[in-house]
Amino acid sequence: MFDVAIIGAGIVGASVARELSRYNLNVCLIEKENDVSEGATKANSAIVHAGYDPENGTAMARLNVRGCHLTEVYAKELDVPYKKIGSLVVAFSQEEMETIEELFERGNKNGVPDQRIIHREELLKMEPNIGDEAVGALHSPSAGIVGPWEFCIALTENAVVNGVKLYLNTEVVDIKKENGTFTIFTGNPELEPIQTKYIVNAAGIYSDVILGMVGEREFKIKPRKGQYFVLDKSQGPLANHVIFQCPSALGKGVLVTPSVHGNLIVGPDAEDNVERDDTTTTKERMEFIRDAAEKSIKGINYRESIRNFAGLRAQSDRSDFIIEESKSVKGLINLAGIKSPGLTSAPAIAEDARDLLEKAGLTLTKKDNFNPTRRQTHFMSLSPEEKAAKIKEDPRFGRIICRCENITEGEIVEAIKRPVGALSLDGVKRRVRPGMGRCQGGFCGPRVLEIIAREKNVSLEEVMQDTNGSYILIGETKK
Ligand SMILES: Cc1cc2nc3c(=O)[nH]c(=O)nc-3n(C[C@H](O)[C@H](O)[C@H](O)COP(=O)(O)OP(=O)(O)OC[C@H]3O[C@@H](n4cnc5c(N)ncnc54)[C@H](O)[C@@H]3O)c2cc1C
Repeated sequence: MFDVAIIGAGIVGASVARELSRYNLNVCLIEKENDVSEGATKANSAIVHAGYDPENGTAMARLNVRGCHLTEVYAKELDVPYKKIGSLVVAFSQEEMETIEELFERGNKNGVPDQRIIHREELLKMEPNIGDEAVGALHSPSAGIVGPWEFCIALTENAVVNGVKLYLNTEVVDIKKENGTFTIFTGNPELEPIQTKYIVNAAGIYSDVILGMVGEREFKIKPRKGQYFVLDKSQGPLANHVIFQCPSALGKGVLVTPSVHGNLIVGPDAEDNVERDDTTTTKERMEFIRDAAEKSIKGINYRESIRNFAGLRAQSDRSDFIIEESKSVKGLINLAGIKSPGLTSAPAIAEDARDLLEKAGLTLTKKDNFNPTRRQTHFMSLSPEEKAAKIKEDPRFGRIICRCENITEGEIVEAIKRPVGALSLDGVKRRVRPGMGRCQGGFCGPRVLEIIAREKNVSLEEVMQDTNGSYILIGETKK
């Protein structure tokens, strides 16, 4: 019997798992896909928002500001790529300067530190490629950028090392509550139904479906799609900060930002009435994004675009995050409607989830031996002496597999063998980056595939590109 079963291993579920692993509890994290971070957590802008955007007094405002602080702390503890580069909300007219002032006031009330309103001259110094119509901006130095899937993987790994049981390939299909305990039925044929005293529902765009399995549909999730360009590192230096336009009813609008690894990200748009799981990209939307971004940063060369992608925001029929014990099912905590700034807020949402569980009757006693840290090898950032020692210890660190990102075979093997190891090509890519570069895996992909097959002792045909069913090889053309 588990004390707590968390459903969904995105950034919210992973943060809760890690938070609860500080206590003497029996906890499991259940994920339907073959890896963590397969939902909205792998497809967003990767911004650690400062917190001026959410309305005063909302859960979003409180959790954003707290999460922004915690993300910086946890990124250090868990060896996650994070840069505090600050954000700029740019005004392109005097009218928009009034919006900037409103955001400034709202940010101050939300507790955002060190914000300033700046004018064109200073803005130009900070961002030499800013659009010609820019008249001023709100500068928020506490904002940053993070590796979203790296963060989710690191949180899960740390939770697992501290005793949480992770079930991958385990889709929750039904939940029953009897005599005060839950039985969770899954699509995993190798697993008995899971018994637990409490449930945390962190299933993203499926959180209303999960609640509906055992209680009343207290809310509804309506996915809102956003599409993006990822540009080569040649374009990264065009922006020094996260560059937003003034927000509208549809959200924070199209942004331009460097990524933690030096690429340039441009997007997203906002599209309603889409199917759950529809992450297709379209020419029309990409053109809209391109035109909108032109206003913010001049001279982006879209011939350097290396990838397009789309993510689904878990927009609910309420305006705020839904962070509460279910009214129809006692002992089930809903963490739902976690749209943006959900990535930023997740570490703080986890603290709220812990408090709600305690209020619902869970006893929390701290572990003496909680280990808050996690490290992985970044071969190229080692000194020449450290590199030589590493290669001596394991010659696979002397063989470069991905020439775009300079990733060694040793790092790839490590990514497969870690506590929450990669099972697919994209799983390796999200952990140590082969395939993230200019050639997008054109050269290193087949080599990585061979390494996974060798290390997992499976055939080449069994290695997936990403989620289950994404076959790469289906057989030999010539026998
Ligand atoms: C376009 C876009 C841009 C964004 N930009 C930002 C940003 O810059 N900054 C920011 O702070 N936030 C941003 N967000 C919001 C942020 O990405 C999300 O709030 C966050 O990722 C939500 O995490 P989650 O864990 O709730 O959901 P998810 O990451 O979707 O995780 C839910 C998990 O539940 C699993 N699951 C679902 N059903 C079941 C089931 N039946 N059984 C088992 N598992 C199940 C899914 O497979 C998934 O892994 C953005 C979102 C989008 C879409």
